[in-house]
Amino acid sequence: MAREELEKFDCVIIGGGIVGAGIFREQSLHGMKSLLLDQADFNSQTSQGSSKMLHGGIRYLENFDFGLVFEALKEKNLWLRLTPHISKEVPFYLPIYKHSKWPLFFMRIGLFLYDVLSLFKNSPHKILSKKKVLQQLPGLNPSGLTGAGMYYDGIVDDSKLGLECIYDALKSPACLAMNYKKVIQINGTDGDFTVVYEDMMTKEQSSVYAKKIIFATGPFTDKALKDLAIPWEPVLLPSKGTHLWLEKNALPIKDAMVLQTNDGRIIFVIPQRESILVGTTEVKLKQGEEILNIKPSQEEIDYLLETLLEYFPKNPVEEDQILGKFAAVRPLVKAGVSSSKTSRHHKTYLPQKGIHVIVGGKYTTFRKMAEDINKKVLKELGIKHNPKLTLRPLKASSVVKDPFIKKITQEDLDEIMKNEFVRTKEDLISRRLSLHSLRQIDNEELKEALEKIKLESFRNPH
Ligand SMILES: Cc1cc2nc3c(=O)[nH]c(=O)nc-3n(C[C@H](O)[C@H](O)[C@H](O)COP(=O)(O)OP(=O)(O)OC[C@H]3O[C@@H](n4cnc5c(N)ncnc54)[C@H](O)[C@@H]3O)c2cc1C
Repeated sequence: MAREELEKFDCVIIGGGIVGAGIFREQSLHGMKSLLLDQADFNSQTSQGSSKMLHGGIRYLENFDFGLVFEALKEKNLWLRLTPHISKEVPFYLPIYKHSKWPLFFMRIGLFLYDVLSLFKNSPHKILSKKKVLQQLPGLNPSGLTGAGMYYDGIVDDSKLGLECIYDALKSPACLAMNYKKVIQINGTDGDFTVVYEDMMTKEQSSVYAKKIIFATGPFTDKALKDLAIPWEPVLLPSKGTHLWLEKNALPIKDAMVLQTNDGRIIFVIPQRESILVGTTEVKLKQGEEILNIKPSQEEIDYLLETLLEYFPKNPVEEDQILGKFAAVRPLVKAGVSSSKTSRHHKTYLPQKGIHVIVGGKYTTFRKMAEDINKKVLKELGIKHNPKLTLRPLKASSVVKDPFIKKITQEDLDEIMKNEFVRTKEDLISRRLSLHSLRQIDNEELKEALEKIKLESFRNPH
């Protein structure tokens, strides 16, 4: 195709995880003509492999990182308000033992600070005696238990929030989003780039023209920039986290818990979606380990099960109570150029004029991340940034909001297939319907409808 015939965009955003989705939405709200591309399904990588919490990050208080916690708590409470159909506030119990890293007095201060930093928008915390904890969490190991802290954080359907930001952006006819399109080449200079992408299923290649480019490629960033021959020093120290979905009766709990492990880690145990989410381990990514669709290792699964057994010695979790398992890579950024320490703050870079990169941060703070990078890009394009636009509720939502809906009709499935960018059966089941195992569905109508769907119907490229 001749250069002058290429479709022209103000900005091409590479990466349709939560960060890219947030950037895309904000650009759309500013009337920009933007294109979002992802090499896989939207929100199918790190942004579907999180602990599914909207949270301030209580553990960062021990590093006195009050600014980070304050910002994240503000964002958490904003999204709980804006997306009540896919998120909610729940209590978290943090049992304290004699050997715990955080003793009870530390907990009192920490939880008080956590509520203060939320400007008292969190539901208030409590400190519980040993007796009260055991009433609340029967089956918890009583040996050495001294009490517990109880505080509130949010849980969210992580892939759905990202998808809904994309649907929201697409309310503007000037914006376009495409999944399974990998960016394979970038030519040109600021204001005049050509972006070449390949469809990962059909292998067809296409090009568009862009004034600006943003990389929101999370843990893929170092590799993506190297592959595209953009001048770049690696900035990531990625770590891999594994989660398990357990049957809801695998543990005797109704509420979420935070477990401190002997080696100083933190594991969340969160009843949700008619099951229990357990995670995460945090291990250094092996040199050269493939990040795309990364899988958990048996070692990490065993570690999680062993930790659960220490806390619930009378309730060993059997392998057949595991409904699903998943892993994801945290895009941690080095604190300094040659540092072996990581920063929890996000960072922005400009490796080449007109090419912006944003990486790090956390799911909860995606809107702030988007704002930071968009302010720079909008300024370059001469567009005035309006910080209020992204505080508005989303104008679009998914067809299926609750994965355990009592009734799903063929019309619902047809609508999802038509409007929600489904290209594989996994897209449909895992992200559009938010199911992690068909085993637990007792809705025969839904099972039947899913079985009836033919694979060919996924082949239509968008
Ligand atoms: C185990 C774990 C638990 C976590 N739990 C929480 C939590 O509970 N709460 C919280 O706030 N945060 C949490 N986080 C952090 C949070 O999940 C991440 O910070 C966030 O999801 C990163 O989003 P992202 O968009 O930057 O990356 P991603 O979601 O990985 O998106 C990057 C996208 O770029 C695409 N891409 C890469 N290269 C190309 C290319 N060449 N062309 C096209 N597309 C490309 C990829 O396919 C991918 O979809 C957790 C992280 C991990 C790993």
